[in-house]
Amino acid sequence: MKPFDVYPLYNITPVKAAGSYIWDKQGEKYLDFYGGHAVISIGHSHPHYVQALTEQLNQIAFYSNAVQIPQQQHLAEKLGQLSGYADYNLFLCNSGAEANENALKLASFHNGRKKIIAFKGSFHGRTSLAVAATDDPKLGAPVNQNPHVVFLPLNDETAFEQCIDDKTSAVIIEGIQGVGGIQTPTATFLNKVQMLCKLYNVLLILDEVQSGYGRSGKFFAHQYAGIQPQLITTAKGMGNGFPVAGVLIHPDIQAKHGMLGTTFGGNYLACAAAIAVLQVIEQEKLLENALLLGEYIKQQLKGYEGIKEIRGVGLMLGIELDRPADGVRKQLLMEHKIFTGSSSNKNTLRLLPALNIGTAEATVFLDAFSKTIAAQKIHA
Ligand code: PLP
Repeated sequence: MKPFDVYPLYNITPVKAAGSYIWDKQGEKYLDFYGGHAVISIGHSHPHYVQALTEQLNQIAFYSNAVQIPQQQHLAEKLGQLSGYADYNLFLCNSGAEANENALKLASFHNGRKKIIAFKGSFHGRTSLAVAATDDPKLGAPVNQNPHVVFLPLNDETAFEQCIDDKTSAVIIEGIQGVGGIQTPTATFLNKVQMLCKLYNVLLILDEVQSGYGRSGKFFAHQYAGIQPQLITTAKGMGNGFPVAGVLIHPDIQAKHGMLGTTFGGNYLACAAAIAVLQVIEQEKLLENALLLGEYIKQQLKGYEGIKEIRGVGLMLGIELDRPADGVRKQLLMEHKIFTGSSSNKNTLRLLPALNIGTAEATVFLDAFSKTIAAQKIHA
């Protein structure tokens, strides 16, 4: 048997990582400015994280959700405190897709409706409902086609107003679109969406799988707009590499036994990882750092050739180039040993480094980026 390749593979075999750096089996050192799709929030193998997971592993790693797991309570309290959603309930699961799947399901349980409004450029994951609400028909199999999902242009208030009705179960929207190329819903749009959702008793689901956990400089990106969605999904940076995800559920939404379930969700190790991440975010003031470093990178990039636009906030940045990003990304990796990301917008380079990078890491990236852009110009 051999493993199924989820993506085309780089010829790189990482064997060790610390902070923002990764080493391959030849001993080559790489700067990680992508965090494996926004997963590495507090840096690779952060000592506090390693210690918390090791201690938990030495005590108990798993038992089913049929017993009391105090670590779940601890995690819910800490997440409530740091996110500002202390009165919400927390359903723990294992991936972003699973969190969105359960949020969409809960919404439909709650109001008994089927219609879902999603947005152009969206990515919500690969399970049935999540992929049906993802704006990429290539990702869904025929069995995933769902006639109840409608895609609207992001930030188009008129289209939204005309579409939402008393048959709509939920609206699902990313705090900042990641895979779509770092596109942000405006505060005005989000407030309008929230207002109309309340009017029609539609549940608003904020997918903060990529944009959450401090990446934007706020705990959740939608908090810039001052809205308060009924359902918020989180994953990626939540476990810094350990699979853990969650749905934050408004107290008015009844999630009864039997509606949702999971074997692995909320296990001891997942909770230990997620608690350790929150402790580091708090102790090292990583929201502030993400905002500061994001602004620093944006300022430094001003005036660079080849850039059409820089989008995003905090350490969730999209650099739209005057050329396809793929060549730049490959050159950054092969020549300068820096991981960056692509997006469905082919000219946009995505930056999703750990939230505790400093100016030293930013400078390494900026130098390499400017050399790469210049070299490509000479070749062209
Ligand atoms: N939602 C968003 C916004 C994402 O970016 C992703 C993954 O890229 C997902 C959901 C799916 O998460 P997972 O791959 O953990 O299922």
